[in-house]
This record gives sequence, C-alpha cells and structure tokens, in this order.
Amino acid sequence: MADLAAVLVGGGRVEFREVERPVAGPGELVVRCRANAICGSDRGAFAGGVEVVQGHEAAGEVVAAGEGTTTAVGTRGVVYLMVFCGECRSCRAGATNVCLDKRGDMGFNRAGGLGPYAVVEERVFFPVDERVPFATATALLDVMGTSGHALDRALMVRPEIEDLYVAGVGPVGLGVLLMAKLRFGADFPVYVSDPSQWRLDFAAGMGGTPVQEPPLVDAAVDASGRTEARQTAVRRLGRRGVLVCVGHGQGLELDVSRDLVSNEAAVIGSEYFPYADFVRNHQLLLENLEAVSQLITHEFALADTQAAFETFLGGETGKVVVTQDA
Ligand SMILES: [Zn+2]
Ligand SMILES: [Zn+2]
Repeated sequence: MADLAAVLVGGGRVEFREVERPVAGPGELVVRCRANAICGSDRGAFAGGVEVVQGHEAAGEVVAAGEGTTTAVGTRGVVYLMVFCGECRSCRAGATNVCLDKRGDMGFNRAGGLGPYAVVEERVFFPVDERVPFATATALLDVMGTSGHALDRALMVRPEIEDLYVAGVGPVGLGVLLMAKLRFGADFPVYVSDPSQWRLDFAAGMGGTPVQEPPLVDAAVDASGRTEARQTAVRRLGRRGVLVCVGHGQGLELDVSRDLVSNEAAVIGSEYFPYADFVRNHQLLLENLEAVSQLITHEFALADTQAAFETFLGGETGKVVVTQDA
C-alpha cells in the first residue's frame, strides 16, 4: 500500500496524496508520523487550502537517521515546530522559540504530521518514553509546551502568583488550566471565561472556576486572541499583576497610567516555548499521564481527517488527534 498524506485543498475539503518515503540527509531524521493533534491555527489552511502537508503537533518514530546523528532508528518522540538555528543569540540563551535565524516551521513550510513522514533536523526531535502513547505524546507540543511557557512568562514577572485567570478555554486555554493545576497544585485557583458553555463545562471538569468576570488576580493569560477578553483581563489585574497574551490575534488598548503605572502591572507576550522545556514537561507528563490524556477528547484515523477537522471546528472538543498505523 502506498503511503498517503492528508492534504487540505481548501473549501474545507481533505484529499489524499501519495508520498514517497524520503531519505535522511546529514544531521536529519526521517520520522514516521503516528499521531498529530489539530490546532486552531490549522483553521485557515482548512478553509483556504495549502500545498504543504499540514500538522505541527506530531509524534512518531524514527525510521531513518542521517549521517552525523546519534538518535537510534526506532526511537519514539515528538517534533518541535520551529527549525531553530541553534547558534544565534536567542538560541544560545535557550530561547529557541524566538530564534533570530529560523529555517522553517513544520507543517507550514515543511511537510507535517498529517503525512506519513517528516524529515526533521535532529535538534528539533525530542525522544519520548515508551510508556506514553503517540496520541498523548502530542500534548508535549501546544498543550503542555505553549501553555507551560505562558505560565513561565507570568512567573518571570511575578514569581509568587496565588491565582490565575484564563480568558478563552479553547485547546491552549485548557492547556494553561491543566498546567497550572499540575504545577501549582489541584487547589490553585484558576478562573476561566469563554463564550462557549460547552467549553466552560469542560474546563470546570478539569478544576477551573467559570466566571463572567474574575476577581482581581495576580496573573491572567489570554488564550482567546480577542480584544474584548484582553481588555477585561488587564482591568482585572491586581497590584503587580501580569497579563500574558499567548498566541496571536487582535489588539489591546492600554491606559498606561491606570493599567500599568499605578498598579505596577505588566502585559507581555508568549510565543510557543523553548526547546529545553521538553525535559520538565516530559517528566510532568510521565507523572500525570491520565490527567493529560483527558484533554484529548477525540482520535480519528488519517483516512477520517475530514471528520477530524469538522469535529474540531465544531468547537465542542478538547484536542482532536489524527493517528496513523505503523
Ligand atoms: Zn498548534
Ligand atoms: Zn537561532
């Protein structure tokens, strides 16, 4: 049987294309993709169509290793989205997520996890323990990685936060809730808001407290990308509070005197996560396999990628993962 990739051809349609097994060049690994989580950022490609095979939350198995690599064939792992250079000032400081000389992005300009194979630089591959199923391993990417980094950004400004507000509990917001509970304890208060009742109920099931408007908090994370939500979040910061805007989206208007100066508050951004965070998050995943798995509500075979997207975009899901057999 030929190897097939799911291709988003536009108009909300998925088609399948035959793909040759690639060869690993020097420093590269060929990863047989076994699971890929769908992300809100795939929405545009599903509607508009793209040539490159999508999927940037992929887990799989190394099936070929090029010259100069040390990863064994058969190693399971996940692929970091950004092909960081490893040498620039950001990378040398560990901030691979803001590499100054990025070479590409998996699933955007390099074949991604909705295809059978991904050719990746060895430095962007992270090995994962065999006890972790492939679908669950994808949580190391946006769910735990991006969300965990957003919390780190808040802690950088405010190391002793005692409560948190999450605006928007789509997949990233749910990840922030999950990571806050795993890292700060089950009793750590996390207030959540979202226009969707389904999402609020789901977040409540994970220990979040749904609110119309939160009390004054030490930290807020905006995972909605919406101006209105960001505006509310910044006004609900207590003294020395911090708002972390994770991901992209709309703007925010600040009354600098009131919002920032008198409160000594901060508004900062958070983009993806540094590669080195995998180490902590992998440990956290091993200790909380079940808790992390509950965020993955649906799994579809690659042949059902169409249904996977329609279900995900219907809005009543946690993470939706497309899986492939070996
Ligand atoms: Zn994503
Ligand atoms: Zn770099």
